[in-house]
Amino acid sequence: MLNSSVPATSAALPRNPDLHCHSSVSDGLLPPAEVVKRAHANGVDLLALTDHDELSGLDEARETAASLGLRFVNGVEVSVTRGSATLHIVGLGIDPNCEVLQQGLKSVRDGRQGRALAMAASLEKIGIRNCYEGAIKYARNPALVGRSHFARYLVEIGICREVHEVFRSYLTPGKPGYVPHQWSELSQAVSWIRAAGGIPVMAHPGRYRMSREQMDKLLAEFVAQGGLGIEVVAGSHNPEQEREFARLARKYSLLASRASDFHGPGESLIDLGCANPLPEDLTPVWSRLL
Ligand code: AMP
Ligand code: MN
Ligand code: MN
Ligand code: MN
Repeated sequence: MLNSSVPATSAALPRNPDLHCHSSVSDGLLPPAEVVKRAHANGVDLLALTDHDELSGLDEARETAASLGLRFVNGVEVSVTRGSATLHIVGLGIDPNCEVLQQGLKSVRDGRQGRALAMAASLEKIGIRNCYEGAIKYARNPALVGRSHFARYLVEIGICREVHEVFRSYLTPGKPGYVPHQWSELSQAVSWIRAAGGIPVMAHPGRYRMSREQMDKLLAEFVAQGGLGIEVVAGSHNPEQEREFARLARKYSLLASRASDFHGPGESLIDLGCANPLPEDLTPVWSRLL
């Protein structure tokens, strides 16, 4: 939780923070305890678990982190629709007992199964059958079924060799298994996170296909709505994107975050704790979390 009365220097600064990753509660491959153990083994010294639209992995993760002496931050990654774009907003330092946040996330989750059925119907039209049943097998919680679970099933039945290829060929806009969906509004995601005492962070901005002007407009809007942070270093960012989002963090006085966005061994671009360091002049988001 945010605690502005505690100076940032009250605890040793982390040397290897990782503030964005997933467990099998959403679309990660490992249970929360295994994610935490792997982070610890990789040398992470401040970890946030940020499952998509769901908080139920946090207790297990926090308890495991405590048993290992690893500092832990409660997190979540909220799905947002803005125009035709899907955005993700990470909430860090949230109170998982906040009812406003819980209700908001429930409303986002409620759309997932209908969307999954529509995706399966769409894939059936091109002759790929039983995808809903296949995807659900990979989802620990059927309410959180998503594209990654479909991707794993399509790999299982030999349609593609690996999940990235499934996304490219079947699950992205314009491809046969893609179904547009209305997630939450940007302003809702920000306000739910703030209501829970958390810091809203723009996740992996390099993944949004936007012009410079569009990105400026998005960040101005995010800040006006109460957004406070941005992932400058993310598993999906190249060095040029890290420089660009460092520039934008300075321009909008945003707190900077460092994130692997780890989903599982073999499925993620980088492992827990393996992202680049943040540029030193930025204000790290963890200065407001410790
Ligand atoms: P959903 O919330 O069901 O739309 O799924 C979004 C998730 O799909 C993201 O959080 C990633 O885990 C995964 N994803 C999106 N694009 C790709 C991609 N190109 N390759 C692999 N995984 C992806
Ligand atoms: Mn994901
Ligand atoms: Mn994301
Ligand atoms: Mn993520």
